[in-house]
Amino acid sequence: RKKFIIGGNWKMQILNVEEAVSIATELATTISGILTETVDVFIAPSFNALYSVGQAIKGTKLKLAGQNMYFRDKGAFTGEISPDSLLDAGCEYVILGHSERRRIFGESDAVINQKVKKALEKGLKPVLCIGETAKEKEEGHTETVLRTQIDESMADIPREQLNLITIAYEPVWAINNKFLNPNSEIKTATPEEAEKNHIFIRKLLINKFGDEGKNILIQYGGSMKASNCEGLLNIGEINGGLIGGASLSAEKLKPIIEAA
Ligand code: 13P
Repeated sequence: RKKFIIGGNWKMQILNVEEAVSIATELATTISGILTETVDVFIAPSFNALYSVGQAIKGTKLKLAGQNMYFRDKGAFTGEISPDSLLDAGCEYVILGHSERRRIFGESDAVINQKVKKALEKGLKPVLCIGETAKEKEEGHTETVLRTQIDESMADIPREQLNLITIAYEPVWAINNKFLNPNSEIKTATPEEAEKNHIFIRKLLINKFGDEGKNILIQYGGSMKASNCEGLLNIGEINGGLIGGASLSAEKLKPIIEAA
């Protein structure tokens, strides 16, 4: 049976610790009965809630993730968070190179590559986000964009650590974000569109890493929710989802976990 990884990216949506702990606790209870061996679930709360959520879900099947991380251990880096702080809070995963980081905060593939390497060095599992914008898609550049993102953000990764990386394919035009997509209508990729690009990403990984590229999990992200998750999760090369809006309550996330 294929493996799935379902991630809840809470972005800057749950603003106080009490609420974050309450949602996380409910989710941990919800999944305890339904989770099978082949499915992993993590949530990525805001940094202020990370430690408390970590304490609340300790010992449960629900895993913790950071939404971002700096590529140095320690020092005068105002406003950044160290991988050691994520580990201290109880994180097992860290989301890196999300399109919002790339586009709003100017993160380049070179910077993301440093972060991926640092996360691996520290024993954090990177969830590396890639994906094309609406404009890149319309101009027919999707494959070039995906190839460049994989090549540059996965440069110099130790082979034996490849299995710790999850790729999140998130077409930017499908992500629910009014700031990044002010005029364009948000769409979910159809299962056919998602399948085509997931197959392409798998080919890139195999070309780059050989057999090891076959086992890297590839999540789909972008407006995944109860009503469309089955069609997406049934696709061979889709190993789960990175979910924004539909991860903000146990009730919304449960059907997606059940579909996996
Ligand atoms: P939505 O599920 O809200 O579209 O967000 C997707 C995403 O960006 C997850 O990282």
